[in-house]
Amino acid sequence: MQNKDDFETLLHQNNLKKTKARMLILEILKDSQPKTADEIYSTLNKANDKLNLSTVYRTCETLAKKDILLKSNFTDDGIARYEYCQSGHVHHAICLGCNKIIPINDCPFGKFDQVMKSKYGFDVKSHRIEIYGYCHDCCKKNKKK
Ligand SMILES: [Zn+2]
Ligand SMILES: [Zn+2]
Repeated sequence: MQNKDDFETLLHQNNLKKTKARMLILEILKDSQPKTADEIYSTLNKANDKLNLSTVYRTCETLAKKDILLKSNFTDDGIARYEYCQSGHVHHAICLGCNKIIPINDCPFGKFDQVMKSKYGFDVKSHRIEIYGYCHDCCKKNKKK
């Protein structure tokens, strides 16, 4: 999934019409860490692609229902975040201090998916890992105290 044509295909496969809102939101989330609807909204407005906030919410919900976006509620603030997950791998480190979410590109599972297949006959399609702790900045702050 790299370009607009792919998003069009993706929407089509999910029986969704191609709309400006859907395309813009996918475009924003493509290479980004998980964002809240508010954050998506402000990113859009910075780029002069104006959508109203309720459209952003609605669109994210629609895309999440179709599993095109992944919706998560893993921070303490209780605000849903959306992300576009193309590889089936989702790895995050979540800071308990400032709620920052750091995407982890290294897959700690490595050959694990193959073990699942050979040993358990289980065909792994995706996985998600959430690691909780304190980010670099928060560690520094805590030390100062
Ligand atoms: Zn932090
Ligand atoms: Zn992985």
